[in-house]
Amino acid sequence: MSLSKRDQKHLWHPLTQHKTSGEMLAMVKGKGAYLWDEKGNKYIDAISSWYTTVYGHCNEDITRSVAEQMQSLDQVVFSGFTHAPAVELSEALIGILPYNQEKLFFSDNGSTSVEIAIKMALQYHFNQGKKRTVLVAFEEGFHGDTFGAMSVSDLSIYNGPFEEFFLEVKRISVPTGENNQAVLQQLENLIKSEAIAGFIYEPLVQGAAAMKMHDADGLCQLIRLCQEHDVITIADEVMTGFGKTGTHFASDHMLNKPDIMCLSKALTAGLLPMAITSCAQKIYDAFYDDELRKGFFHGHTYTANPLACRAALAGIKLLTSDPIKTGIKHIIASHQEFDQEIRQHPMVKQTRHCGVIYAIDLNINMSRYGDLRNQLFQFFMDRGIFLRPLGNTIYILPPYIISNDQLTIIYQAIKECLNHPILNQRDQPHSLL
Ligand SMILES: *Cc1c(COP(=O)(O)O)cnc(C)c1O
Repeated sequence: MSLSKRDQKHLWHPLTQHKTSGEMLAMVKGKGAYLWDEKGNKYIDAISSWYTTVYGHCNEDITRSVAEQMQSLDQVVFSGFTHAPAVELSEALIGILPYNQEKLFFSDNGSTSVEIAIKMALQYHFNQGKKRTVLVAFEEGFHGDTFGAMSVSDLSIYNGPFEEFFLEVKRISVPTGENNQAVLQQLENLIKSEAIAGFIYEPLVQGAAAMKMHDADGLCQLIRLCQEHDVITIADEVMTGFGKTGTHFASDHMLNKPDIMCLSKALTAGLLPMAITSCAQKIYDAFYDDELRKGFFHGHTYTANPLACRAALAGIKLLTSDPIKTGIKHIIASHQEFDQEIRQHPMVKQTRHCGVIYAIDLNINMSRYGDLRNQLFQFFMDRGIFLRPLGNTIYILPPYIISNDQLTIIYQAIKECLNHPILNQRDQPHSLL
C-alpha cells in the first residue's frame, strides 16, 4: 500500500479539514531545491518548505555538522548545565543580530518563541511593580498557534473557538507609507489610554497574510514611540529572519531596534525544530535579582538541544558565506527583472517584493478564493513546482541555492498560469481556504 494510503489510518495533519482534503502526497527525498514524491515525481521547492530549508534540502555542511555532534553529545538538561554547541551558537548569533540583542532564550518552534517573548514583556513590567497587561499588534498579523501567539494573531479563521480565552490585545493598522502619521497617532492614543506592556509585529512582511508588506520608516517610528514609553517591542522574525528580506534580519532595515526578537524556521535550516527568543540587556536585567521569583520560570525539555544548535551554527556559517550572499543577491535581481515583465499583465492586480520574497495578487473575483487556491496549487505541482498560493496571491520564497534554470522554470510557469483559462473560469461556489 502507498504511504499516502497508510497515512490515512492514524495521522492527523496540521491546518487540514480531512473530510475534504483528500490524500496527502508522500515525499521520500529532498536534495538542494528539489523534493521527490513516492511515485518518483520531482518538484522545485519554491517556498523552501515553509521558509525553512533556505540552504537547500539535506545541505551537506549542515548534515555533516549535526552527524558529528551526534557522536559526542546528543541531549542534556539545559538548566544547571551548558555545552559547546549552545555557547558557540550564542557567540555566532549575537554576532549577526542587531547590535542591541544580548541574551538568547531557547525553545522549539516559532509559536513558543512568541509565547516566551510575550511572557518576557509582561514580566518585565510585573517585576518592576507596574501593572501593564495589554498588548498591541498589527491587523492581519500571524504569530503562531499557542494561546499567547493566537491572541496576538489576527487571522480569525484559525482563532474562532478560542477567542474568549485570549490575552487583551489592541490592533493598529500596518504603516503603508501614506498612513504613517495616522498609525502613529493610533498607537499614541492607545499608549495614553491603556496600560500597554508591549507591541508585537512581523517586521516588513506579514507572511500568513499572503506576504503583505509595509513601510520600514513607518514601522521605525512606531518602535521609537514605544521606546519613549517603555512599551516593549517584539519583532517576530520567525519568517523574515536569516536573509529573507535581503539583510540578515528584517530589523536591519530600521534604525530603531526591537527589545525582543523571535527566531525559528530558517534558524536550523529545516533540519531540526528549534527557536530562540533574543532580547536586549534591559529585559534580562529586569529579571536579574536576589529574589528567585523575579527569574524567568519557563523551560522546555529540549531547550538548546545540541544537535539543533549545531544545525543553527552551520546555517549561520552558510548565511555569512560568499556563495549564499551572492545567491540572495541573484534572486533579488531576478525577481526585479521578472516583475518588470509581468506587472502590467491584465491578470496581475499588484506585485510586491522584499529580498527573496516575491508576491503577485491576481486580478480575479474574490468569491473564487478557496476553489482557485486548490486549482493553482495543482497547476504548479503538475509542472513540477511546489508553491502554496494563499487566496488570490501567488508567492515565491526560493532557497538561496536555487539555480538560474530552476528560477526560470518557476517564472515560466507563473507566466503560463497568468495566460491560462484556469483564471478566467466561471465563478464557483465559495469554499473554505
Ligand atoms: C510560522 C510563524 C510562526 C509560528 O511558528 P511555528 O514554528 O509554526 O509555531 C510565528 N510567527 C511567524 C511570523 C511565522 O511565520
